[in-house]
Amino acid sequence: MRINISIIISSLIAASFGVQAAVSVFACEPEWASLTKAIGGTHVRVVSATHARQNPHYIRARPSLIAAIRRAELLVCSGASLEAGWLPVLLKRASSELQPGGVGYLMATDHVAVLETPTTVDRSMGDVHPEGNPHVHLNPNNLIQIGRRIKEQLQKIDPDNKAVYAKRYADFERQWAVAIQRWTVQAAPLRGQTVIVHHKSLSYLLDWLGINTLASLEPVPGLPPTASHLNTVLKDSSRQPVLAILRTPYDPSDASEWMASKTRIPSVVVPYTVGGSDQSTDLKALFNHTIELLLMHGS
Ligand SMILES: [Zn+2]
Repeated sequence: MRINISIIISSLIAASFGVQAAVSVFACEPEWASLTKAIGGTHVRVVSATHARQNPHYIRARPSLIAAIRRAELLVCSGASLEAGWLPVLLKRASSELQPGGVGYLMATDHVAVLETPTTVDRSMGDVHPEGNPHVHLNPNNLIQIGRRIKEQLQKIDPDNKAVYAKRYADFERQWAVAIQRWTVQAAPLRGQTVIVHHKSLSYLLDWLGINTLASLEPVPGLPPTASHLNTVLKDSSRQPVLAILRTPYDPSDASEWMASKTRIPSVVVPYTVGGSDQSTDLKALFNHTIELLLMHGS
């Protein structure tokens, strides 16, 4: 009986001092929510500002997001202007730790090699990728690097669980390395093939798998397709075999479907992030389903 009472008392003390409280995390996109959960397990409580059917370039800084960011101890986003239209407004309401340089500030693009960096700084064409391509999560090697960074920042924010984060990250890294090897072998037939994309949201996936991009249906990232640009792409697509016209669940379908009807190239929706298809329930399933979809059209 005495033991039971002491257990109850010590757990009450732990609760009152917040010893078991999970770290509150604000993720801008589902991929970062998923990766943070993989590293943090039950020691993190994660909110994602967007879901797979929302274009992360354009969401509204609604009051529920302000409430969530005010509570957050760690912010995990893509950066490189992907969230430029809405995150700065939210950040004004967040703690000092979440501001650039703070222990709770993590932008994925700060920790990996960014593709498609512009040679001139000119946004007159409405480019939404002024600092290069921010959609970095579809190269699985990037997730190892960003996962390591998440681990390091969680260890600083919650030093009591330092060993837990180290162990969970080590497990993630080991399992991920095995999965990457498997995907690379599986996707080998796709190497050297060519696709058309709606927006440049899949560049890291295509670069990783050695798939060429003939064109984007958007003349410039963020600008809707124009008739003259679509006609140029149509002409170019007749000169070589094209595997598929790829878009995400949130891209408008009209340009892809028009191109598909003119060319007989299949129009394919890839999940893009966790939750983007019924099968894509976590990051590993996202890559499994994406590669499966590409192979289905590549044979
Ligand atoms: Zn983009």
